[in-house]
Amino acid sequence: MTATEINTGTDGEAGEDGGSAGGVTVVGSLSPSRAGDFMTCPLLYRFRVIDRIPERPSAAQVRGTLVHAVLERLFDMPAAARTPAAALELLGPEWERLLAEEPELATLFDDEDDEDGEDGAGGAREEWLAEARAMVERYFSLEDPRRLEPASREMYVETVLESGLQLRGYIDRLDVAPTGEVRVVDYKTGRAPRADFEARALFQMKFYALVLWRLRGTVPRLLQLMYLGNGEILRYAPDEADLRATERKVEALWKAIRRAMDSGEWRERTSRLCDWCDHKQRCPSFGGVLPPLPQAGGAPGAVAGAPLEPERDDL
Ligand code: SF4
Repeated sequence: MTATEINTGTDGEAGEDGGSAGGVTVVGSLSPSRAGDFMTCPLLYRFRVIDRIPERPSAAQVRGTLVHAVLERLFDMPAAARTPAAALELLGPEWERLLAEEPELATLFDDEDDEDGEDGAGGAREEWLAEARAMVERYFSLEDPRRLEPASREMYVETVLESGLQLRGYIDRLDVAPTGEVRVVDYKTGRAPRADFEARALFQMKFYALVLWRLRGTVPRLLQLMYLGNGEILRYAPDEADLRATERKVEALWKAIRRAMDSGEWRERTSRLCDWCDHKQRCPSFGGVLPPLPQAGGAPGAVAGAPLEPERDDL
């Protein structure tokens, strides 16, 4: 088993397809977000990973990024200063920082303009900001950050399985108890899923737990999803059997992805998520016409291990 752990906050390059990590040839790379894409709809995976068609971030996605940034910055402060008021004060500067990095975000609400050019965008912006404020406040109903000292935040991790499949992703927060027990924390700005969708939500966390287990040799004690959309927490204590099952699942997913790459057939899978899909107009299920594949069959060497932004899942 080879493993690397990077905490730089940037995409790793060492493990890209065709490269090697510790003597193992890397055959491809998977993050929880992209694995989730393929499970949701193989064609969506193709649009994002193979075609690399840029997407316009939704207001909800950008709000997720903003709230994540505020919660990350909050822990830069001394523990006693981490109050709700201090967190809310971070919203403005963090939004300005995001705008400076991506000026096109300034047009996020332009589509909301009323036909007569009245205040549609301004009203939508206010509503959006009010919900971001509510999410930050809701966070404080779930835990007291003055009593926490995270071991890591926005931590980039990667590992390479024996098969050569590289697993990687960003962990929102890692807490390590004095006893050494590890808690993996992820913030979600959506609402907690219904019980029958919990397994899906936990897949991402088990993916991270698998990477950490491979890196550190111990299974994280607790996986914690914090839903800031409705103020609920989903906790799960994984064991080795869980993580072995997760490893089998990601390997099976990767095989299915490779089959699609080899055949060039990326099935669309319609669901209510199609309503939010940025690629609906080119999706055959909605009367669209597929663009030609960038290379015949979607050459794995060109795409399989390439970093793709965003790897973070901010919703
Ligand atoms: S619209 Fe639906 S079926 Fe089509 S690519 Fe998007 S998610 Fe898949």
